Amino acid sequence: MPRVDFLGTGNAFSPHGRMHALALIDGDILIDAPPTVITQLKRSGYSSGQIRHLLFTHWHGDHIFGFPFMMLERKFVTNREMEVGLEIYLRPGGKEILSGLCETGFPGSLESLDTMVNWNEEEDGDVGDTDWKFNRFPVNHNPETDPHGYELIHSSGFRMLHCGDSGPCPEIDRRAPKADVIVVEMGVPDIGDFPHHHRPSDVISLSERNPHAKILVTHNYSSAKGRQEGFQNPSLPETICQLEDFDSLEIFEDGSFEIINKI
Ligand SMILES: [Zn+2]
Ligand SMILES: [Zn+2]
Repeated sequence: MPRVDFLGTGNAFSPHGRMHALALIDGDILIDAPPTVITQLKRSGYSSGQIRHLLFTHWHGDHIFGFPFMMLERKFVTNREMEVGLEIYLRPGGKEILSGLCETGFPGSLESLDTMVNWNEEEDGDVGDTDWKFNRFPVNHNPETDPHGYELIHSSGFRMLHCGDSGPCPEIDRRAPKADVIVVEMGVPDIGDFPHHHRPSDVISLSERNPHAKILVTHNYSSAKGRQEGFQNPSLPETICQLEDFDSLEIFEDGSFEIINKI
């Protein structure tokens, strides 16, 4: 049964009770590599050595700084025999950024990156031999980070739009009508204009424009449910689910789905 585990749901500031936003599909497709990615995998019972596909959305530290840790752990601990190949889906220029990070983090230890990974710069195609196809699309976020989202289509017909980090944008609106689930960031509160992020009012508006779709909020600026510190959860309509760390999405054969809250 296809599933998506949300191993983190916080923005770059890792609000109280939230790790950085991180989604894992079917146990081996990872979207981004936040600084504590290996910690987040382990605490949910997964291992860096089982990741076969890594999809990058953009070049901000809360999405990429865990890459050297992941590669180092694979090389020396979790994938020593290199039995599990890793395909990396990224924009042109990304290989240099990620290689530079590895050289900065662990000089001399990860020079063999090219033997450990397959770099894939295609904008769409199959996610290896999995049941998923992907389509990468540009979003509205800091342009220096070459920001993108991913439309992920399961062989059952189920469609998930992962918007990466982005404010409202035409490319999201263009794909949203076909999506069953829209995973959207809510990186900032309603305290001003932030074109590169969704605010609660923007998420509500997205939901109103797409009543057919379930909106899942991640990369949340507010503290986890029940925490007294920091920003409190904004109140949003019931059609919108503010994910918590450890939540998962389970998808059934008929294309229906359920959000499982583990806490
Ligand atoms: Zn971010
Ligand atoms: Zn970002």
